[in-house]
Amino acid sequence: MADENNKCGHEACVCAVGENEEYCSPECEAAGAQDLTGIACDCGHAGCS
Ligand SMILES: [Zn+2]
Ligand SMILES: [Zn+2]
Repeated sequence: MADENNKCGHEACVCAVGENEEYCSPECEAAGAQDLTGIACDCGHAGCS
């Protein structure tokens, strides 16, 4: 089960993701896999830094 609003799994990331996506970008997925979600998002999307 994903987040109710389909938000990126990265704690510091505010990007929306598709229904079948857990992370908005490979950067976020890598950070999540390494349990580094406490640090700033590095996806480069506007409004997310
Ligand atoms: Zn982001
Ligand atoms: Zn993200």
